[in-house]
Amino acid sequence: MRDPRYDILFQPMAIGPLTAKNRFYQVPHCNGGGYRDPSAAAAMRGIKAEGGWGVIFTEQTEMHHTSEITPFIELRLWEDKDIPMLRKMAQAMKTHGALAGIQLAYSGINGPNFYTKEVPMAPTALPIRTFTNDPVQARGMDKTDIRNLRRWFVNAAKRCREAEFDLICLYGAHGFGIFQHFLSRATNQRSDEYGGSLENRSRFAREVIADMRDAVGDTMALTLRVSLDEQIGNLGFSNAELREFVDMNADLPDCWDLAQGSWDECSGPSRFKQEAAQETLVQGIRALSSKPVVGVGRFTSPDVMARMVRQGTLDFIGCARPSIADPFIPQKIDEGRIEDIRECIGCNMCITGDMTMSISRCTQNPTFMEEWRKGWHPEKIATKGESDSVLVIGSGPAGLEAARALALRGYDVAVAEAREGFGGRVARERLLPGLSAWGRVIDYRLYQIGQRANVEMYQGSELSVEQVLEFGFQNICVATGSTWRADGVARQHVVPMPQTGSLPVYTPDDLMAGRLPKGRVVVFDDDHYYMGGVLAELCAQAGCEVTIVTPAAFVSDWTRNTLEQGAIHRRLAEVGVKIVLNTGVAALLPDGVETNCAYTDARGHMGCDAVVIVGSRLSNDTLYHDLAARRADWADAGIRSVQLIGDAAAPAPIAWATYAGHRYARELDTGVWGDAWGDSPSFRREITELAVD
Ligand code: ADP
Ligand code: SF4
Repeated sequence: MRDPRYDILFQPMAIGPLTAKNRFYQVPHCNGGGYRDPSAAAAMRGIKAEGGWGVIFTEQTEMHHTSEITPFIELRLWEDKDIPMLRKMAQAMKTHGALAGIQLAYSGINGPNFYTKEVPMAPTALPIRTFTNDPVQARGMDKTDIRNLRRWFVNAAKRCREAEFDLICLYGAHGFGIFQHFLSRATNQRSDEYGGSLENRSRFAREVIADMRDAVGDTMALTLRVSLDEQIGNLGFSNAELREFVDMNADLPDCWDLAQGSWDECSGPSRFKQEAAQETLVQGIRALSSKPVVGVGRFTSPDVMARMVRQGTLDFIGCARPSIADPFIPQKIDEGRIEDIRECIGCNMCITGDMTMSISRCTQNPTFMEEWRKGWHPEKIATKGESDSVLVIGSGPAGLEAARALALRGYDVAVAEAREGFGGRVARERLLPGLSAWGRVIDYRLYQIGQRANVEMYQGSELSVEQVLEFGFQNICVATGSTWRADGVARQHVVPMPQTGSLPVYTPDDLMAGRLPKGRVVVFDDDHYYMGGVLAELCAQAGCEVTIVTPAAFVSDWTRNTLEQGAIHRRLAEVGVKIVLNTGVAALLPDGVETNCAYTDARGHMGCDAVVIVGSRLSNDTLYHDLAARRADWADAGIRSVQLIGDAAAPAPIAWATYAGHRYARELDTGVWGDAWGDSPSFRREITELAVD
């Protein structure tokens, strides 16, 4: 039964000529699949429909071939041939009464056009602004270009209608989208009627929306996604100017979709941004217009959502990441199952699918983007196969997810954990600066497991081979994790690094166990994800004089894919960490480290009292190999299978571990392992059809 406090979230809401069945609004979000994997993307949106969202959007859709953002993979609507793929998506979105929306993007100053080879066009001629400093400039649009672009928007709108969408979102936030480029004085330096005053800078948006309304406005709703605050100094489109813009154009779109001025600000990870982080920027804007307002803020708490509506800040609760981590949030709130919500942890792993042009993963929801590829449903799983029992060894994210999903399938499951307390690496990492929300990975799973009578949990139980053979479980899932190496082996060193003397060496495991260095500390980061930066911050907080040394050109290099690299650099600078880039640690000396230039190998000396090596990890796979060596004894012990998963198989981020645990549970007793394993892909692919010449 739904808690009446949340009734307000389920009120139907009008948008233009349409009505959304509730206030749950899945704002546009990328997924790394886009035009390459349209069936996978469509099925993912269909799952959101099933989960109860009132409005569901596509990711950004490049609406004309003169503006595209290769290498990033989004959707395309360049000609009629693109319509069937998009119609498939719209139809999936509408399966449970949701409104289907498409986000149209003309990338302007963000589109290098590597694929189409067209000359990019923008309000003002300037270099292309993307993540990659492309050596390409856009030419400034003349009046003919603007007239053409208006017509292209109308053509796109008609195609959207043909593709059966209900809503069109015009993209002009996050620094992306031509509407923001016209609105901002940084990217619009025109002296004609499209530049200068705010009224002039709004002209393009007004004209396009009027044109589109004439073309499709009788049946479709038009929303404008506009920047809350560009935060790039005096020339940027500020929050004050946004308010003036809304006031001046109060009834322009059918819905105001408000999002931060840059993507990394809008989708900041939990390490730097709390739930509802954009609240003050949004507050009061709704009073300026009679049209509904949607805003985002990694909302996972129904209380915060209801407060946003009740206090008049938002009409629609916009969610991207929360809807990825749990596509069934609306249904769970409706059914009074708040505890079952799988809360987003704000790690931004999902975003890396887009940034690496691969396909998205979610740390919390391993089924994300596997709905079509593998036929995985986030809430449903096949009942168990012919065996009955599973012993899961290790309670990290891999072991816990395996146990949760196996229990749902109906197996009798036991989880044995060597330590006191469950959660493996997450139990320790959640205590590091800024990572507390990551604890949701274990909180969610322990709660779900606690609801099932068929799982026994044993802590302080380090198992030996003999014990495993004695217990009589039919399937053994070994999820024993990994240990950080102290010998420097990672990328710079593929064999242990030279060491003379006895400089104290610490690993991330030492620091997470509370053994902290003192004095002058060098953190050598050859891992390049978050751990080096987080530990540098931890040591600085503990009063050490910290230098972080990395062979990469950026501190925490890989976090550029999680949109937090800039914030990490700023944080380290704030807490007084000295950052040394393009530099390796060649050797450990008695009184410090020998450094070497990543390009010239020029050597240097850096004095310190201790070094923290953040390199690579060794799988804790001894138990598995010992079990494998006793294969002859399995039958007598009643063992049918032994499988190694997660970090114990190959160390990787937490999302890999939850995926591995989930996959293990799905595949048990399905016959996928065995002699023929791997002969063909374990998932469906969209394969390009050859064009007829
Ligand atoms: P993953 O990310 O793959 O889930 P973790 O390192 O987070 O890996 O978790 C592995 C867990 O397995 C750790 O909590 C560790 O204490 C536990 N473990 C390792 N060896 C054994 C063992 N022999 N018996 C029981 N638990 C073990
Ligand atoms: Fe949230 Fe991380 Fe999942 Fe993205 S990957 S939805 S940030 S839990």
